[in-house]
Amino acid sequence: MNQRVIPLADERQLARRPAIPSDRPTPDGRLADRRGRQVRDLRISVTDRCNFRCVYCMPKSVFDQDYAFLPRNALLSFEEITRIARLFAAHGVRKIRLTGGEPLLRRNLEDLIAQLAALPDMEVTLTTNGVLLPRKARALKAAGLARVTVSLDALDDAIFRAMNDVDVPVADVLAGIAAADAAGLGPIKINMVVKRGLNDSEILPMARHFRGSGHILRFIEFMDVGSSNGWRMDDVVPSAEVIRRIGAEFPLEATDPNYTGEVAERWRYVDGGGEIGVISSVTQAFCSTCTRARLSTEGRLYTCLFAQSGHDLRPLLREGCSDEELSAAIGAIWQDRNDRYSELRTAATADLRKIEMSYIGG
Ligand code: SAM
Ligand code: SF4
Ligand code: SF4
Repeated sequence: MNQRVIPLADERQLARRPAIPSDRPTPDGRLADRRGRQVRDLRISVTDRCNFRCVYCMPKSVFDQDYAFLPRNALLSFEEITRIARLFAAHGVRKIRLTGGEPLLRRNLEDLIAQLAALPDMEVTLTTNGVLLPRKARALKAAGLARVTVSLDALDDAIFRAMNDVDVPVADVLAGIAAADAAGLGPIKINMVVKRGLNDSEILPMARHFRGSGHILRFIEFMDVGSSNGWRMDDVVPSAEVIRRIGAEFPLEATDPNYTGEVAERWRYVDGGGEIGVISSVTQAFCSTCTRARLSTEGRLYTCLFAQSGHDLRPLLREGCSDEELSAAIGAIWQDRNDRYSELRTAATADLRKIEMSYIGG
């Protein structure tokens, strides 16, 4: 298929410079958007680069040797990231997830983790493809990382290699999961993106493998993030089908969310074999409880995973804004938020020029 290629640079230019409101609300941890949703989670992308080329995220046809990744001086420094995180904390954020690209490619990431984990009442987690965990898990834990989520889309080597498209074997990711477990970064969540015809045959083998392991396998519906992955509704395997297929072999029962706004719907094996989760952002949108803000590698703030443009905080950071001014700008952006893309998704919206997953993080 001849996929339409949207240079990311075009999308970056759409970023708006936020205004600093003159009536500055004092952060009181209860900042709500236009739909009454409070900000609770901050996802921080620390790099737009990756050592994988997952076909549903960074297809090689777009992310090739000519692709313009961000130059080093465009990246926010750890101090800049921590400053923004501290201001978000005052607005009510209690959870930070580091993502990318592949976050473990960012040099000295444990130094950033230590700075973020030192913020009062803050939990810091990370999503990774896992291959660098054997080298890094212990240092990440020592720096204060609470848990990791590891992405793994198949147990069959041929299928997995075809999906990551850089010939990484399943064993490398399983070694990463074991290293994270041994370092005390559990309970580990395992993310599996399901694409019909590509890896849906792996739903049951994955369920069998992780049942009883103490790890929580989560099935993610293939999403129309970005504009390069050729998404079609027909490729989505609805979570209800995943639950039906697994439940036919191992009876399942629904269980309560851990907290309001949890994106994964939880199911438990009736015989005590542990739990699984499904993330149904296509077939059962959860926008009404969406409490997430997203900070890109170069300091753009996005209020939705499917955003077409962001708010450029970097000039405010680098041109001497005070904490109060920056905090007021962040507050105004969140208060103006009205996003609910997944509730409005159609075949036509899938074609919009949205920001890429590898740029904004999952
Ligand atoms: N590189 C790390 C990883 O793969 O875990 C972190 C970044 S990745 C963008 C974050 C998560 O987004 C991964 O679990 C990945 O499988 C998921 N993801 C990427 N593209 C997706 C898509 N089109 N639909 C659903 N999930 C997707
Ligand atoms: Fe890289 Fe993660 Fe995207 Fe795969 S899903 S290409 S590992 S950023
Ligand atoms: Fe949140 Fe946007 Fe996803 Fe809706 S579509 S849940 S608003 S990130």
